[in-house]
Amino acid sequence: MTQFPQLLAPLDLGFTTLKNRVIMGSMHTGLEDRAKDVPRLAEYFAERARGGVALIVTGGYAPNRTGWLAPFGAKLSNRFEARRHLAITKAVHDEGGKIALQVLHAGRYSYQPFSVSASSIKAPINPIRPRRLTDRGVRWQIRNYVRCARLAQKANYDGVEIMGGEGYFINQFLCERTNKRTDKWGGTSENRRRMAVEIVRRTRAAVGPNFIIIFRLSMADLVEGGQTWDEIVALAKEVESAGATIINTDIGWHEARIPTIVTSVPRAAFADITGKLEKHVSIPVAASNRINMPEVAEEILTRGDAQLISMARPMLADPDWVRKAEAGHPDEINTCIACNQACLDHAFARKHVSCLLNPRAGRETELILSPTRTTKSVAVVGAGPAGLSAALGLAQRGHSVTLFEADSQIGGQFGIARKIPGKEEFAETIRYYNRQLPLAGVDVRLDTRVGAAELVGNFDEVIVATGVTPRVPTIPGIDHPKVLTYPEVVRGGRPVGKSVAVIGAGGIGVDVSEFLTHEHSPTLDLKEWKQEWGVTDPEAAAGALTTPKPSPSPREVYLLQRKAGRIGAGLAKTTGWVHRAALKNKGVQELSGVNYERIDDDGLHITFGEKRENARTLPVDNVVICAGQESVRDLVDELTVAGVTTHVIGGADVAAELDAKRAIEQGTRLAARI
Ligand code: FAD
Ligand code: NAP
Ligand code: SF4
Repeated sequence: MTQFPQLLAPLDLGFTTLKNRVIMGSMHTGLEDRAKDVPRLAEYFAERARGGVALIVTGGYAPNRTGWLAPFGAKLSNRFEARRHLAITKAVHDEGGKIALQVLHAGRYSYQPFSVSASSIKAPINPIRPRRLTDRGVRWQIRNYVRCARLAQKANYDGVEIMGGEGYFINQFLCERTNKRTDKWGGTSENRRRMAVEIVRRTRAAVGPNFIIIFRLSMADLVEGGQTWDEIVALAKEVESAGATIINTDIGWHEARIPTIVTSVPRAAFADITGKLEKHVSIPVAASNRINMPEVAEEILTRGDAQLISMARPMLADPDWVRKAEAGHPDEINTCIACNQACLDHAFARKHVSCLLNPRAGRETELILSPTRTTKSVAVVGAGPAGLSAALGLAQRGHSVTLFEADSQIGGQFGIARKIPGKEEFAETIRYYNRQLPLAGVDVRLDTRVGAAELVGNFDEVIVATGVTPRVPTIPGIDHPKVLTYPEVVRGGRPVGKSVAVIGAGGIGVDVSEFLTHEHSPTLDLKEWKQEWGVTDPEAAAGALTTPKPSPSPREVYLLQRKAGRIGAGLAKTTGWVHRAALKNKGVQELSGVNYERIDDDGLHITFGEKRENARTLPVDNVVICAGQESVRDLVDELTVAGVTTHVIGGADVAAELDAKRAIEQGTRLAARI
């Protein structure tokens, strides 16, 4: 008897059967754009099909040049382009999977001069003003969607997904916000829906009955001028009548200022909205957004909120997600922590997409952990992300690995990160390694701080992954009792007063400020989260928006940096704005261009700028230091002098601009090499 009977049950679509309820949602990897990357893309999908996903949806392909996400982006509009896809569909079919191609027209989100939309209204996140389509232009676009679907069918895809959400082209026609037309494609809600429904109807007519058509439907636009609930329900019913096979959930436009997929969004935060819509249609509906573990998916299916679960990033983090659920071992899953660092942040930077936890994602043909021919005895010192990934990779390849950790638990700095409100998911990574290390046969020695003496002569090679230690800046009064380091505050639970100054506004300073402005609860509370961000029932307000009501901070917090300019400017593209908004919601006072003059009983004394002007005393109970880190590498010289083959990875290698993405990738690449 399986633990996940709903999740693993087949779904009969009438003309074809999905072997379980898992769809791998569409994600642009960057490999779609060039013909030379087809073999990599094929292997990337094949690995997920092998892992048991029932239906894969590709990254978005534009139906013509006006729909490009960016110049020379992925497009499917002719037979030559279609031919390339044969290798992709074959690779997936050979592994027993099914695959649908996503048709994505960017509309006014397109970063190129030929962009078009319902009206000529610029998106707040794109400097390019789109051209308003004529009636003829709209009809031409519809024909191009149909042509794209036909080409996908010729390339042996099992179906297409028509992207109707996220504020892209179709969504721009659906909403008053972006559709100011007065012809038959605008004005009334029926007219605004006309193009979406025509695309589905004419696609169905062209591809025949035995081809999957998924319509990705925006169930909560989360922007002013978004669709009303009645409009959303009417659209769902009409696309069903027009011939859609499945409706997939989409939440929020790209320009919405409400987070929808970052780690601080509670799991399955929007599944109830999918459940609300599900009642109005008879075709299967897929839930999506922040669903990352089988237990969560099973609960949604059991409640009847959806018949399918669409997950994108979790399939990057662990291609064997379904296989592990089938085997009854969900605790072996490398759970996506929704950090966006190697996936969406890469996509926005036009870099190839991968995964912070699984650097092999998108590099399946290049980064291979093949069985070793010569077994070596390897010591890994430090069980932070760098040491953990190296130790596991080496053991999986067949090496004999001993992992030494000074602390009583594994995780390193990640063990601090997981205590930050909104970063609770990071604990899953530690659970994953705790489960996988013994399975792979790694000898883990906790509470063991090793020196060179214990290592020399006992191992063929040593990996130093001893990480980082917080930097202590030279400020007069730095040894005052009110000064605390971030590990003392977050992990050590040292009491912190009602007013606090945080020195250093990098990623950790921002996280620590969030920690200090929250009453700590062990799990993310969905109701509180919705209140904080102003998300309501889509039936109650168009766009599902209401006035945000963040709960007040238990402390007064000042966040300081020496450099001039905006606090948090260096944070990542897809998550930085969420952190900045969260700090604003909590009333954190941000001060830039600061000189730290001294710390004493009165508080923190500061001045501003090169001339050290505007002296001010912040009357704080505590000062928390988040001023960056320094490498811990005292073992390296001794080992090298003793002639031991030594490798240095993660923070021990370079502390500047260190993150877990670099630490894990370095560990994995080293594991593949030894
Ligand atoms: P560490 O994590 O420092 O691990 C080193 C380990 O070595 C430690 O466990 C230490 O005890 C052990 N050790 C040291 N010397 C010895 C010895 N002689 N013998 C045995 N063991 C020893 N990164 C991100 O990418 N995304 C984030 O969102 C993010 N958020 C963060 C939030 C916070 C609050 C913090 C503190 C960090 C965050 N980070 C984040 C940073 C990330 O945790 C670090 O980049 C990462 O942990 C570095 O990995 P590492 O393995 O190099 O070193
Ligand atoms: P950081 O980003 O380098 O920031 C250090 C901060 O301390 C800066 O604001 C710096 O700004 C200040 N500082 C540096 N030296 C100082 C000194 N001598 N005196 C006073 N202030 C000083 O490092 P971090 O915040 O410690 O983060 C470490 C790494 O963890 C980062 O590289 C980051 O990638 C990763 N991380 C990532 C996330 C994420 O969400 N992706 C979250 C947390 C951490 P000024 O010099 O202007 O004062
Ligand atoms: Fe998930 Fe982060 Fe990996 Fe993206 S990079 S798939 S968000 S764990």
